[in-house]
Amino acid sequence: MSSIDADFTKLLSPESSPQGLLSALKAGLAERRFSSLELTRFFLERINRFNQKLNCFVSVTEDQALRQARRADRRIASGRMEDLTGLPYAHKDIFCTRGVLTSCASKSLHNFCPPYDAAVSERLRKSGMVMLGKTNMDEFAMGSSSENSHYGAVRNPWRTDCVAGGSSGGSAAAVAAGLAPCATATDTGGSIRQPAAFCGLTGIKPSYGRVSRYGMVAYASSLDQAGVLATSVRDCALLLKSLAGYDARDSTSRNCPVPDYPRLLDRPPASLRLGIPTAYFDEGLDAEIRQAVERALEQFKGMGATIREIDLPHLAYSIPSYYVIAMAEASSNLSRYDGVHYGYRCAHPADLDDLYKRSRSESLGDEVKRRIMLGTYVLSAGYQDQYYLKAQRVRRKIRDDFRDAFARVELLIGPVSPTAAFRLGEKSDPLEMYLSDVYTTAVNLAGLPALALPAGLSRAGLPIGIQLIAPHFAEERLLAWGHAYQQGNEWRRHRPRGFRE
Ligand code: GLN
Repeated sequence: MSSIDADFTKLLSPESSPQGLLSALKAGLAERRFSSLELTRFFLERINRFNQKLNCFVSVTEDQALRQARRADRRIASGRMEDLTGLPYAHKDIFCTRGVLTSCASKSLHNFCPPYDAAVSERLRKSGMVMLGKTNMDEFAMGSSSENSHYGAVRNPWRTDCVAGGSSGGSAAAVAAGLAPCATATDTGGSIRQPAAFCGLTGIKPSYGRVSRYGMVAYASSLDQAGVLATSVRDCALLLKSLAGYDARDSTSRNCPVPDYPRLLDRPPASLRLGIPTAYFDEGLDAEIRQAVERALEQFKGMGATIREIDLPHLAYSIPSYYVIAMAEASSNLSRYDGVHYGYRCAHPADLDDLYKRSRSESLGDEVKRRIMLGTYVLSAGYQDQYYLKAQRVRRKIRDDFRDAFARVELLIGPVSPTAAFRLGEKSDPLEMYLSDVYTTAVNLAGLPALALPAGLSRAGLPIGIQLIAPHFAEERLLAWGHAYQQGNEWRRHRPRGFRE
C-alpha cells in the first residue's frame, strides 16, 4: 500500500475522523494534504476489491470519476473550492444521471441512459463532487431488504449473510464498508433510515418538499423524498445544505429558505422536550432495540431533556394505509414502462397488446408486479372508496396526531426497525417484510423529517439505530440535537470487520 493510501485507510477509522469521514476528507483537501484524484483512486480501488462481496454497486463510473476529480483539483488549485468540491460519493441508481445507466435495479430499465440529470445529480455535479458509481437497491425502491433487485441482493458488511436493509441497501453497504464516504438515498417508507440502522450509519430523510424530486424515478410520488447516508450528523448536514432548496421543476418543492445546517449544529437550543410515542413500544419490538432506545433516552435526559409520553392513536394504521397509498401511486407511476417509450421491449410482439403484456411481464420483478396489481385493485371503481379513500382519511388522522404531538414536544424519539438486520431470504412472506416498516412509514405519510442514528450493537454484533422525528421543515433542530447526541456516545465509531484494511 502506498503511503497516501495508508493515510486514507487511517482516515477511514472513526478515531481519526471524529466529525465524520466526509468532513475529515474535506479538511484534507482544503489543506492540500492530498488531491481529489488520489482520493478518488483510493475509493475506486476499494470498490474494485470489495464490491463483489457486497454487490452494492450496479455500475462504477471510473472514467467519469477520474475526469471529475481532475476538474475538482483544478478548481481547488485556483482557490474556488466549495463545501463539497472534490469529495467522492456513491449515487443511488434511482436518480437520473445524464449519459449514465439509470436502471432503478429493474430489468425494465436495463438499457436506460437518461438524456438529463435529476435535480439531486445536478446539484452534486455543480458542487464539484465526484460520482464513483450507482448503487444497488430494491427494484423501483420497493422493499425493505435490497433483495428485490435485478442485479441480485446486496449484502450487509457487518455480516454478509444478512441484508443491508432497503431500499437504499447498496448506498448503505457502500458507506459502511468504506467504499464511499457518503451516498445519496431515497425514503418513501423508511428506505434511508432502515438501511442506516442496519449498517450503523447516520441518515436523514428530509421533509417532503425539501429536496427536489425532479429526475428521481417515481415510486409513490406523495411519499418519495431524497436524502443522504453518511458516517456522522455533521456530514449529513453538509450534504443536505447543498441538496435542499426550491426547484420549479418539482411542483411539490417548497419555496422557503434553506438554513445553514452545518453552522447551526453547534447551537442546539438550551432545552428540549422530547416525546416518546408509546405506540412504538409494542410487543413486536426486539428487547435489545428497546434497551438501545432507553439508553438513548437516558443520554438525552443527561443533556437536560425532559421526556414526555406521547399518544399517537392512529399510528397502528400506518402500515395498511401506507401500503394502500404507496401501491396505488406505484401502479399509476409504473404504467409508463410499456415497452414503447424506452426501456425493455420484448422480442417479436404479435400486436400492440402482446407488446405491452410481454414487455411488462418479462421485465418487472415479482414484488413490483404484486404492487401494480394491488395498486390497480385499490384504485378500481367500486373499491376506491373502500380502500384508497379510506387510506387517505387515515393518513390525515396520522398527520393530525403528529401535529398535536408537536404542540407538546420539540422532537420525537423511537426505534427505526423492530429488529436488527435479518438474514438474506429470511422474510419470504411479503406481509412479514411490510411489517418491518412499522416504525418508519408514518413519518412519510405525514411528510415529516427524520434522522436515523447509530445507538448500539446487538449481541450478535449488528448495529442498532434510533430515529428522531421533527415537525415539518425543522431539519436544523433534528440535526443539532442529533449532533449533540452523537458527540456524547461512541456508537458511530464502530465499523464492520473485514473492511477496515
Ligand atoms: N419498505 C417500504 C416499501 O417497500 C419503503 C421503501 C422505500 O422507502 N423506498 O414500500
